[in-house]
Amino acid sequence: MVRTKLPGDALWNPQAHMPTAQAKRLVLTGGEGAWLESSTGQWLLDATASLWHANIGHGRARLADAAHHQMRKLETYHTFGRFANEPALHLADRLAAMGPVPGAKVMLTSGGSDSVDLACKLARRHWQLEGRPEKTTILSRVGAYHGLHAFGTSVAGLQYNRDGYGTSSLVPETARVATNDIAAVRRSVTEIGPENIAAIIAEPVIGTGGVIGPAEGYLQGLQDLCRSHDILFIADEVITGFGRTGHLFASHRWDIQPDMVTMAKGLTSGYAPLGGVLVSPRISERFFEGADAPIFRHGLTYSGHATACAIALANLDVIDEEGLVEEAGRLEDVLAKAVEPLRDHELVEEVRSGAGFMAGVHLHEGVNGDAIAEACTDAGVLIRVIHDNTLQICPPFVTTDAEVKLIAGTITQALDAYQ
Ligand code: PLP
Repeated sequence: MVRTKLPGDALWNPQAHMPTAQAKRLVLTGGEGAWLESSTGQWLLDATASLWHANIGHGRARLADAAHHQMRKLETYHTFGRFANEPALHLADRLAAMGPVPGAKVMLTSGGSDSVDLACKLARRHWQLEGRPEKTTILSRVGAYHGLHAFGTSVAGLQYNRDGYGTSSLVPETARVATNDIAAVRRSVTEIGPENIAAIIAEPVIGTGGVIGPAEGYLQGLQDLCRSHDILFIADEVITGFGRTGHLFASHRWDIQPDMVTMAKGLTSGYAPLGGVLVSPRISERFFEGADAPIFRHGLTYSGHATACAIALANLDVIDEEGLVEEAGRLEDVLAKAVEPLRDHELVEEVRSGAGFMAGVHLHEGVNGDAIAEACTDAGVLIRVIHDNTLQICPPFVTTDAEVKLIAGTITQALDAYQ
């Protein structure tokens, strides 16, 4: 059969059932604040801030200007060895000062998955340099999402993201521990043997795994466990960094001081691909001192990309000047109230809220979450289904109270109309 070629027929989407993706293409052509325009002229409220990242909203001329200005000067040059560019230097200092790791050094990356790979590699390298090369295992948690590069795939707590690449994990020596049950984590650590464990990586609030906040004392417990067993603690703040929890970082909100913090997404609010890792002096110091200082051999062509860094600086200025971290904190309550009535809906298993400006509406097994999300989209609200049949809500920080209510109302209508 000869099939008519559509424009973009060659595009293979990530995380997509391609026959469906091609049959139901949704092409976005413009954006303004919390709203997006599609190629059919429909305006859609972005209830998921794209993939948890369009925090300052779409269509900001100021970020376009920052990109334009930097590109006219110097689009970028690599930052391997002694090379640097001005935006990368300023950004590193600014991130070190605002992050939850005192005295941090900052490695800039191309995104969240790259940050996770870097942090896991550096954890192993650290213990090798400490003369404890057997400490290689990276622990992650059931339900975790840490991107899809090699380490992120291997430490994934969502089994479908790990499956299909052979009988062993892509990167050997990883294991999963319980989420929100510190006694169970302690038992796993004892079983595996702390002498074999390099690090525990954890999202302070599990995002893609279903929007699951930390149980009381759990993150503190993880940190204490790590400290008492010489295990590095990596907080994956790719979603929670830069305001999503009403604090600059979730580590501030839950009062933890990780050894490394991975970030991306909200660092540029999606105006350019960029990530970073904050590294504590405990790990970084030896790399910065003496003629025989070791070299950490992670880095990509685009690490510290000058234009991406200039965009990040402008994004951080916007967040600062408009008080968007505080606004996200305020909107957390508005959203929690708006989704509260959904708890009683007959199709809803659980509503998760109260751990930042985000919520998960977990639908009963058997309810077609994709159909609900599609009905919401048809009604003008862009919603996504994530792990375990959960609707993801995490709008940009510029969303109004009325728009938050519109999101909850549109979901309710889609559920009411569900056959
Ligand atoms: N870590 C977490 C917690 C994430 O949510 C994500 C992406 O959703 C990543 C890492 C990977 O980031 P990226 O998609 O930028 O590679």
